[in-house]
Amino acid sequence: AAKTAGKNRYLKFRPEMMYELVERTEMEAGLRLAVDSGQIVVHYQPILPTGGNSGLQVEALARWELNGRIIQPRHFIAAAERSGLIVEIGTEVLMRACTELGPWLREDAARSVAVNVSGVQLRHGDFDELVVAVTESCGVDLRQLVLEVTESVFFDNDFDVIHQLKRLRKAGVRVALDDFGTGHSSLGRLQQLPVDTLKIDQSFVAMIQTGAEELPILNAMIAMAHGLGLSVTAEGVETAAQAAYLVNLGCESLQGFLLSCPQPAAVLDAGLSRAEAAIGLTLAAHRADH
Ligand code: C2E
Ligand code: MG
Ligand code: MG
Ligand code: MG
Repeated sequence: AAKTAGKNRYLKFRPEMMYELVERTEMEAGLRLAVDSGQIVVHYQPILPTGGNSGLQVEALARWELNGRIIQPRHFIAAAERSGLIVEIGTEVLMRACTELGPWLREDAARSVAVNVSGVQLRHGDFDELVVAVTESCGVDLRQLVLEVTESVFFDNDFDVIHQLKRLRKAGVRVALDDFGTGHSSLGRLQQLPVDTLKIDQSFVAMIQTGAEELPILNAMIAMAHGLGLSVTAEGVETAAQAAYLVNLGCESLQGFLLSCPQPAAVLDAGLSRAEAAIGLTLAAHRADH
């Protein structure tokens, strides 16, 4: 396949290729510097339970702080994965999250922090040991850590990746499947994966309009997750109508701008209070309806 696909491509040089190469190289050099000089920072977004049984959670989201400006992950995570720098960035995010949220987590054992993990980190090896070492040194209980992975980490059926996640789960870590619905994993497969929670991708949540009729795919995804014994978090909840719809379907947790945007640790308390007030309104309306 490489022979036939590659033949014409080698011969034609397009000027854009040069720009792409320069851009990539500059981006990687910039990221290298960012990692070395502490420009990778973390913002936190609340994930709120809709029932009484679980505690507050926050998701740690990487930001690149450059000359007083904040660069969003969509501009650098792909480059970091391509260059392998995601291994160091991911470690930095985990360490910062455990350090900055350590005191908050120790106040209440039901609280937790979710950290995004790239397949590159898992395939790098010894990720499980890193997680244990970092949480231990920060005094964070493994039962208060959630690792968010996407379906793609399971694509090539990498035994070691699955083994690491299984080991971590045995030690109390929870695993969430991020952006669920955008990948290609079969439902049969889902049953075998070492995951605890499905995070429904925001594109599905965006389909819920005010006065929405039944949304078969969304309803089926949530029912299937529950059938498999998984809890469900909805991402990208922006409106009260979406929140109401998801609470009705029994979604265990909500995350989105309706509740709170991602914010630095220093202002997290205020963000959490606002988010709790917002979800309180949703739940009060739900109870009044039933
Ligand atoms: P994600 O893990 O699915 O994170 C959710 C994204 O949705 C975040 O974008 C968040 O700011 C955004 N979001 C939250 N609520 C809403 C909402 O109501 N409406 C809309 N439109 N968006 C909402 P963010 O922070 O830009 O991160 C984008 C992606 O970058 C993340 O998606 C994750 O895949 C990746 N990422 C971020 N930090 C890390 C990291 O430390 N490591 C790795 N490997 N990936 C990361
Ligand atoms: Mg995530
Ligand atoms: Mg997501
Ligand atoms: Mg995403």
